[in-house]
Amino acid sequence: MAGGRRNEWPPEDWFGKFYLADLHVHSRFSRATSREMGVPALARVAREKGLALVGTGDFTHPEYFRELSELLEPAPEEGLYVYREDPDGPRFILSAEVSNIFAQNHRKNRRIHTLILAPSLEVVREINLALSRLGDLSADGRPTFGFPVKELVRLLRQISPEIVFIPAHVWTPWYSVFGSFSGFDSVEECFEEETEHIFALETGLSSDPEMNWRVSALDRYTLVSNSDAHSPAKLGREANAFWYPMSYPEIVRALKTGDLAFTVEFYPEEGKYHFDGHRACGVLLAPAETRAHGGRCPVCGGALTVGVMHRVEELADRPEGFRPEGRPLSVHLVPLSEIIAEALGLGPQSKQVKRTYRQLIELGGSEFSLLLEKPYEELADFVPDRILEGLRRVREGRVFVRPGYDGVYGVVSIFREEPPGEEKDSLRQQSLF
Ligand SMILES: [Zn+2]
Ligand SMILES: [Zn+2]
Repeated sequence: MAGGRRNEWPPEDWFGKFYLADLHVHSRFSRATSREMGVPALARVAREKGLALVGTGDFTHPEYFRELSELLEPAPEEGLYVYREDPDGPRFILSAEVSNIFAQNHRKNRRIHTLILAPSLEVVREINLALSRLGDLSADGRPTFGFPVKELVRLLRQISPEIVFIPAHVWTPWYSVFGSFSGFDSVEECFEEETEHIFALETGLSSDPEMNWRVSALDRYTLVSNSDAHSPAKLGREANAFWYPMSYPEIVRALKTGDLAFTVEFYPEEGKYHFDGHRACGVLLAPAETRAHGGRCPVCGGALTVGVMHRVEELADRPEGFRPEGRPLSVHLVPLSEIIAEALGLGPQSKQVKRTYRQLIELGGSEFSLLLEKPYEELADFVPDRILEGLRRVREGRVFVRPGYDGVYGVVSIFREEPPGEEKDSLRQQSLF
């Protein structure tokens, strides 16, 4: 694992030329989603985070679609919308996620999630009409269908060739194109004759571009990163930096050509399916350890949940650290509230952390402005020393991460000088230096 992997950072003269966009979120009409999630909260929180563009999420849901039609109006930028009450605020792109559960190539129970982008409310109306004949759109903000996902692409492309299909969180064990439980070994095997209409893949929280660059079969796809937020606080934990000018056709062009500035990445180890393991037994294993144990939990003998890193290694044909030419930068960040919490030695939900977060956002403009943009000299005027040191360590990639597994989130730590007893905590540190 030793080797020169450092955090990549956008050059200073790029600032002002790109904007940040989070395309994949959910509304309160999706299961297990905060009741706050809707247009007003998305507009407010996107502004605090420093996102200039945010997905609406869930446009297939009849009640939410009514809300979108009432609360949004066309923005000056082609194909985008804005909250009527906040016309200078963040722009909205019409987005939804669909789940297909189907049999294909002699295997039942293929489960694929797809992020869909649409160029107008009129097109969304037609999409919803077509899909309402094939499943229950009001059951969940992320509706489920029983037909192959390639049929979804074929059907919706007849409505508009401008609709974009992005296989979502492509490595998660459940519900993804390459998932260990329900997926395929290639995009082509899944989408067959519709493959040419797939040009971007969402890496998901548990993988980053570096991991995906190891699979040469993915070279032709643009890698995007989104939060998949189910609550306002999670918005923008991953995002994409598109070049201005902003418009729906420009976003489609960037997704087709890969002409993005960078993506904002969660440390993939923080994702809850990064490594292999068995949650009930508290067993966390690296891919090689899983192989050594024959895929069984060393405690109970049950089946292990095979995580994202394992699947990447199965499909990879390049060594760790390989970087193809001309790709957008991969910028790893830790959410500001986590940095504050660790600097203050408090939980991220504590009142003091929330208060400090609000103060810093007010003084700094937005979360991304603090995390990414402002020079240290400027930050030093209003950011307490220890939090500033945290920001510096995050920018330099000097953090420790204990990998997530089998539904358990990984843990990032910024201020730990010595990795504790557990050997896996030191992995990121080793790979960074
Ligand atoms: Zn999903
Ligand atoms: Zn077990």
